Amino acid sequence: MGVPLLDLKAHHEPLHKEIMAALEHTFQSNAFILGPAVEKLEERIATYCQAKYGIGVTSGTDALLLALMALGVGAGDEVMTSPYSFFATAGVVARLGAKPVLVDIDATTFNIDPSRIEHAITSKTKAIIPVHLYGQCADMAPIMELARRHNLSVIEDAAQAIGAEYRDGRRACSMGTVGCLSFFPSKNLGCLGDGGMAVTNDPGLAERMKILRVHGSQPKYYHKLIGGNFRLDTIQAAVLNVKLNYLDGWTKRRQENANRYQSLFQQSGLLQKGRVRLPEEIYRGSGVKHYHIYNQFVLRVDNRNDLIAHLKSKGIGSEIYYPVPFHLQECFRYLGYKEGDFPESERAANETIAIPIYPELTAAQQAEVVEAIASFYS
Ligand SMILES: *Cc1c(COP(=O)(O)O)cnc(C)c1O
Repeated sequence: MGVPLLDLKAHHEPLHKEIMAALEHTFQSNAFILGPAVEKLEERIATYCQAKYGIGVTSGTDALLLALMALGVGAGDEVMTSPYSFFATAGVVARLGAKPVLVDIDATTFNIDPSRIEHAITSKTKAIIPVHLYGQCADMAPIMELARRHNLSVIEDAAQAIGAEYRDGRRACSMGTVGCLSFFPSKNLGCLGDGGMAVTNDPGLAERMKILRVHGSQPKYYHKLIGGNFRLDTIQAAVLNVKLNYLDGWTKRRQENANRYQSLFQQSGLLQKGRVRLPEEIYRGSGVKHYHIYNQFVLRVDNRNDLIAHLKSKGIGSEIYYPVPFHLQECFRYLGYKEGDFPESERAANETIAIPIYPELTAAQQAEVVEAIASFYS
């Protein structure tokens, strides 16, 4: 029958009327730039993330860019992150003329390995961007400790991790200097296009980001700073104000689906044979509810590329997040890295595959996915 990687039709169908009403309301208002819907969303998302301020922006990428701009990162500065993430994480650093400095990931979580950070800090280091990849927080305690000691800013790339909790119950975006969210449709809270938000507890930084979001103008047409147009569309905020009411329910279903995969893969014998390794939930059992919010459910597998072809022939959606680590990207050749520099990232890029985990996925569909994988290895 086939199973898609993501089913936005099934996701939005129950909300059809509510979303249409929000769109209609915005259309009738003829107020399309910022305004009450954006402000309401900013307050709600900040609260959801256990932080004080939210600044609605055009995309997750622009949230990262805006955060770096507000922190004054530019030419000559170094910003540290891991090589294994979506391109935007390092792209924004380079676009500002700063240098992305890469640090390998932890093999279990796929997140930046804190034990490798200090070694890479120089007098030029300005910030660290830990990515909470797939929906599980990076190990923030040692990262924040290093940042304090070396006077660095920390920008959480929480594009895949809205609401994810660290072992102490603190949520993504509340721990670093700034947290960045994406509302791209495939994220856990997605809008009907592009959108994002920068979240912070620092009032001065929040103010700076708000000004930079409108070309650095304050008051209107007087520019102390050079910013850009980074505004979140009012119509997207209106949709997100509806969808946010359902986010906890969706997260719960993603976690239930992850649990069901655990038992299905156990029963399949694939784990015992070492063909497949499941994601590990390292904060589970520490008393937090959102120990992993499963934006993606990512396996390590044997013979990955042939498995993908097999799944495709059975109509089962999968994806590689991400096939090429930053240090091997053509555009970053000038950074001088080479193959072998970040072995864990390279191994992850070669071994991993994301399978369907979306909230509307049924038990029967999950059984079909696991059977298809089992049939490949039998
Ligand atoms: C999606 C994503 C981004 C970029 O968000 P956009 O809204 O697509 O610009 C940045 N970092 C990570 C880890 C992401 O997954």
